[in-house]
Amino acid sequence: MTPLERALRDRILSEGPITVETYMDACNSYYYATRDPLGASGDFTTAPEISQMFGELVGACLADCWVRAGNSGDAVYVELGPGRGSLAADALRVMSSVGLDPPVHFVETSPVLRAAQGEAVPGASWHHDLSTLPEVPLLLVANEFLDALPIRQIVDGAERRIVTAAGGLAFDRDGEIVEVSPARDEAVRTLAERLVENDGVALFIDYGHERSSLGDTLQAVRGHQYAPVLDRPGEQDLTAHVDFEAVAKAATSAGASVTPLVAQGEWLERLGIAARAAALVRAHPERAEEVDAARRRLCDPAQMGALFKVIGVHSPGWPAPAGFR
Ligand code: SAH
Repeated sequence: MTPLERALRDRILSEGPITVETYMDACNSYYYATRDPLGASGDFTTAPEISQMFGELVGACLADCWVRAGNSGDAVYVELGPGRGSLAADALRVMSSVGLDPPVHFVETSPVLRAAQGEAVPGASWHHDLSTLPEVPLLLVANEFLDALPIRQIVDGAERRIVTAAGGLAFDRDGEIVEVSPARDEAVRTLAERLVENDGVALFIDYGHERSSLGDTLQAVRGHQYAPVLDRPGEQDLTAHVDFEAVAKAATSAGASVTPLVAQGEWLERLGIAARAAALVRAHPERAEEVDAARRRLCDPAQMGALFKVIGVHSPGWPAPAGFR
């Protein structure tokens, strides 16, 4: 039994069943606080860990917005859940090449990952949540952040809860599931409000669906394999598909402008991943195969290209980011 499972069982025995939201929140807080889960030796691999091209194109997209918005001098780079800091390092390098060297603000709760981010991006500042971000234009990106925020599951109009069972934990009910995520809606709404007030642009990249729909999308991953979600609490990554219809609604309700939702592969192709790959291969001919494989992994609809999607949110006074139409 994991330490967290023991604590959750004790809590359920003394206070009663816990919601899926409470469970996911407790598991992920423990999980991220105690390890670096990324990469081949960890539990899962994300786009910025596959290739520098991902972060470079994000950086180019943000820099392009900043230029078209009139080079607002006091903009800052913000990243939510920056993992190892790879995306930020790649994005900032590209931004710097066009004369944009913004202060860097990371929203990150994990001390382990904060340490890795500090190595990758010297001089960054950290925030525990969105409330302390500076009140200036934001150039923001969040890759695989929203999927880690807790969801609620509703079955037949009742909240799905978790109870103790012989040797572990179990759901109190099964049936047709509706998922909602007040935590996610709240995060997007808060950011959108900040954008409306202080200008800027935000890119959210995640796996998910375009329309709110029925179904259980809560999943656990450990050592690059799917696992039952109630197994080994706190020792495996819990995520749920992002409902991008809800994200768009939360942003527009705060008065922000929203781009269409596009598949990650399509977005990266429109931003010029082919040209970037060709330039990398010219500079490092020995890496041709690796660069080509990375591009396919990021863009091919059979790999990450279609499941992962991108949506842009921006203040009404700023231009829409490139690559969405
Ligand atoms: N964006 C990175 C890492 C994705 S993993 C990449 O693409 O490689 C999810 C990240 O979000 C981790 O850095 C994790 O510590 C962070 N995170 C998860 N829940 C969080 C929360 N509630 N507040 C702040 N950061 C959180």
